[in-house]
Amino acid sequence: MLNQRRADGTLRHLITLEGLNRVELDALLDHAQHYVCALGARPPMNRALAGVTLGNLFTEPSTRTRVSFELAARRLGAEVINLEVQLSSRAKGETMLDTIHTLESLHFDGFIIRDSQPGVVAHVAANVAPHVSVFSAGEAHLSHPTQGLLDALTVRQHKGSRFGSLSIAIVGDIKHSRVARSAYEVFTGLGVGELRLVAPPALMPASGEFPAGLRFSTPEQGLAGVDVVMMLRIQKERMAQADIPDGEEYFARYGLTLQRLRLAKPDAIVMHPQPMNRGVEIDSAVADGAQSVIRDQVRNGVAVRMAVLESLLRPRLGRA
Ligand code: ASP
Repeated sequence: MLNQRRADGTLRHLITLEGLNRVELDALLDHAQHYVCALGARPPMNRALAGVTLGNLFTEPSTRTRVSFELAARRLGAEVINLEVQLSSRAKGETMLDTIHTLESLHFDGFIIRDSQPGVVAHVAANVAPHVSVFSAGEAHLSHPTQGLLDALTVRQHKGSRFGSLSIAIVGDIKHSRVARSAYEVFTGLGVGELRLVAPPALMPASGEFPAGLRFSTPEQGLAGVDVVMMLRIQKERMAQADIPDGEEYFARYGLTLQRLRLAKPDAIVMHPQPMNRGVEIDSAVADGAQSVIRDQVRNGVAVRMAVLESLLRPRLGRA
């Protein structure tokens, strides 16, 4: 695994949440909380990253993540350029690095990368100049660290920071989900009391993965008494045609309806990373209902990305 840190131990890249300790996770969440603001208020802005140039390199579709990284960079005074590049001309690994080195010559200080192929983000990080940072914006089914942080921030805002007393259920296509993997890392890192994995056998990850997770094959068992219900999208793009579940049948057995939500604690919150398949994994009455914090997740995305960009890039600017 790539070392994400500088020689002094500070984080230089953010490719995975694995290996971040509780103090670091709490510090990033505190920092992000400082940038959260009510809807309708003027969002916090400063010049902490003035003079920094960042490239947004997304080779998979994205709305929330790309826009929120861009806003986060701009609200800290950085310049951010959206680049339409085919990073991984797959077989031609060096072409990708040529692109990156060209951008380095144009004084880019960091790259925000989303790619569907495992390892591309780390490959770039391993080959950039020593002053350059790389931020994952979603890597294959493996990792989506800023999503994990925004999910943790959302839970903390609604349930407080005593994660040890919380039971969190992740429900749906866990097998193909980078959101679930980063959620697992952040919630276990924060000392969550119980982490449940609720999925049909075909969408459950391999047995060696998520070692601390408690596995349930039905929402009826898995949702009983939980504080947080985290729904996931069926990741059709990562499945063979034959494995794609029938939407109606899936909804009947696993979809989060108001009735199923009653199995959780009465004050349980409902999360979803989006995009949502309404009527497949979640009923609109739940997605738009009183217990849904899905829009808070989106709002928190900008605050978390501001905290991450600022924390990781500031040491290099000598503006600690
Ligand atoms: N937007 C999230 C991701 O990039 C979740 C999803 O696509 O289902 O992984």
